[in-house]
Amino acid sequence: MERIDVGVLGATGMVGQQFVSRLARHPWFNLTWLAASERSEGKAYKDVAPWRLSTPIPDASAGRVVEACTPGRGPKVVFSGLDAAVAGEIEGAFAAAGHIVVSNARNYRMDPLVPLLIPEVNAEHLQVLPEQRAAKGWTGAIVTNPNCSTIVLALALAPLRHFDIRSVIVSTMQAVSGAGYPGVPSLDILGNVVPFIGGEEEKMQTETLKILGSDGGRVPHAAVVSAHTNRVPVIDGHTMTVSVDLGEKPSPETVVAALRAFKGRPQELGLPSAPQPAIVVMDEPNRPQPRLDADLGGGMAVSVGRIRPCPVLHTRFVALGHNTVRGAAGAAILNAELMHAQGLLG
Ligand code: NAP
Repeated sequence: MERIDVGVLGATGMVGQQFVSRLARHPWFNLTWLAASERSEGKAYKDVAPWRLSTPIPDASAGRVVEACTPGRGPKVVFSGLDAAVAGEIEGAFAAAGHIVVSNARNYRMDPLVPLLIPEVNAEHLQVLPEQRAAKGWTGAIVTNPNCSTIVLALALAPLRHFDIRSVIVSTMQAVSGAGYPGVPSLDILGNVVPFIGGEEEKMQTETLKILGSDGGRVPHAAVVSAHTNRVPVIDGHTMTVSVDLGEKPSPETVVAALRAFKGRPQELGLPSAPQPAIVVMDEPNRPQPRLDADLGGGMAVSVGRIRPCPVLHTRFVALGHNTVRGAAGAAILNAELMHAQGLLG
């Protein structure tokens, strides 16, 4: 199969580096174009990307000259790891110029005509793309992936949808890598917990309901979500404790069976980045843990454990996912794989 040329907007940033690394060995996509700000324009990628990944900078990108984010330049399909301060304007201009923008930024996530996609959970939300094009006058499109903690919660809740989810209380323990580089100062986080992450609780409470909602995400799920978000001294992996009220009152064994049986379109289609299984159910009483389990499924699986009755709501459990893989670049690449499998990248 001939590979599809793709580019990265914001290629020099933390998420951009994840894109560059993961796309270097992708069977379907061929990374041919890197773009960032005026600061980086015209310079070799290795000289302007402060490489922070444990894998080496890919040879094919190291010497590539970084270009400006000019709509119409670069390939039709572009991934975006742009800073949210500029992503709204730049991504919109690229979509208007005919590019398909697969974005990791927050700007368009809650737009009713932009899919907020988790391929295992709401693949059908891609149905809004024709309306998006018509309403916005774009010849291209924008598709987004959720915030890094929302994606873990929504994937863990998806198999429980048919038990009538009524309310959810979630408390997170989020890794420092989710704050980008250099991120949280060491004197704030070492030996400490910071019980505030700006905007994070609101994102978990709204994005989750759009993802689990109907009519392409325009009708939010009727449940109510209460989120407490905390930064903890962990490098990678967002862990969360979740209590959920399920109207159908399934037994714990039935909940475990639903989580174990869960699979979505990526698993059925065998997409290159699809974890098999999407949700790893753990029996050990002290799992999942970020250091042991964040990399499961190549960082794309969500692990769930300690599934047991909740005396206040109905069911409670622990969920964990890799925030910079499943919560960022890996999620966007899986979105593009699903779109390609559905003929939406042509
Ligand atoms: P970052 O390291 O600060 O990178 C930002 C990127 O945007 C850089 O490539 C930068 O290019 C580019 N940029 C900034 N201003 C620009 C301009 N005026 N024109 C063109 N390009 C410009 O940020 P990040 O941590 O990778 O996050 C990127 C996005 O992903 C954000 O929207 C963030 O909220 C979201 N996100 C991050 C994570 C995470 O784990 N870090 C997880 C989920 C979502 P230069 O290098 O040339 O300045």
